[in-house]
Amino acid sequence: MPNTKNSILQKIAFSEITQKDVSLYIKREDLIHPEISGNKYRKLKYNVVQATSENKKVLLTFGGAFSNHISAVASAGKQYDFKTIGIIRGDELGIDLKKTLQNNPTLKFAYDCGMQFKFVSRTDYREKTSEGFLEKLKNEFGDFYLVPEGGTNKSAVKGCEEILNSETEKFDYICVAVGTGGTISGLINSAKKHQKIIGFPALKGSFLTSEIEKYTKTNKNWKLNNDYHFGGYAKISETLIAFINQFKKETEIPLDPIYTGKMMFGIVNLINKEVFEKGAKILAIHTGGLQGIDGMNIILKKKNSLIIV
Ligand SMILES: *Cc1c(COP(=O)(O)O)cnc(C)c1O
Repeated sequence: MPNTKNSILQKIAFSEITQKDVSLYIKREDLIHPEISGNKYRKLKYNVVQATSENKKVLLTFGGAFSNHISAVASAGKQYDFKTIGIIRGDELGIDLKKTLQNNPTLKFAYDCGMQFKFVSRTDYREKTSEGFLEKLKNEFGDFYLVPEGGTNKSAVKGCEEILNSETEKFDYICVAVGTGGTISGLINSAKKHQKIIGFPALKGSFLTSEIEKYTKTNKNWKLNNDYHFGGYAKISETLIAFINQFKKETEIPLDPIYTGKMMFGIVNLINKEVFEKGAKILAIHTGGLQGIDGMNIILKKKNSLIIV
C-alpha cells in the first residue's frame, strides 16, 4: 500500500533565493509510492474504490505517449487487480509496437504492467469525451470503468483534498503545477482561509479556470500564473533543463521537466521579483512525474541538447 506518511515536508535551501526573506518548503508527494507517484496516486485512490464498488474489472483511460497518468493507471491496475486499457494519442506509435516500446520508457513500463494499448489518431483522440466514441470503445472492449484523461473527476478531486493536512496549515501560499486542474481543485477545497493557492499551468489555454470552478465551491483564494509554461505542454528550453539540474545538485530534489520543474522555476522567479511579502511562508507541492525524465532525455539526446541529470 502507498504510504502517504512518506510525503514529508522539506525546507529548501537554494542559492538563487537565499538572500530573500521568505521560506520555501516542498511537500514530497513524489515519495508516496515508487510507481504511482505524487498526485496520480491521490487522483486514482477514490477511483479505484469506486471501480471496486461498481464491481468493474477493467480500467480504461486516455493519455499521451509519455503520460504520467498512463504509467500510474497501468501500475494501479497491476497492484489492485484490474485489467487496464490505454487509449494512446498517436496512431503512428502502433505501427511497430516493439520499436515504440524500445524508444518509450513510459509505454514500456505500462506494457510490462499488463496494459493493453489502442493507438488512435490525434483527430480520434479529441473525441475522448464524446458519447459515440465511448460507445464504440464499449463495443470493442466490453464493460469498463472510465478514468478520464489526466484522471480528473470528482473522485480525483476528493483524493487531492487529502494532500493538505494539519502540518501544512502554517503556510501562507501553496503552489502547484496544473495540467487538467484536478489537483489544484482539491487543494483549493481543503486549504485554510488564510492560504492562497497559486497554480502554474504546464500548458497554454484558457479552459482551466472554468474547469477548476466546476470542482471548487466557495473558496476563491486562488489564481493561475500563466507566465511559466515555456511555450506549452511538454515544451522545454535549455534554461529550464539547466535550472532543474542546478536545483537537484543543490537540494538533491529531482524535478520533472513537464510540471514540477516549470512550477519551481516560476516560484524561484517570483521570489526573486519580490512578489511575495517579507516573511512569507511558501509551500510547493511536488506532484511527482519523475518517470517522464527518461523519455524526455531520449528526445533531448536525439536533438543533441542538454539532458536532465
Ligand atoms: C498530472 C500531473 C500534474 C497535473 O495535475 P492535474 O490534476 O491534471 O492538474 C502535475 N504534476 C505532475 C507531476 C503530474 O503528473
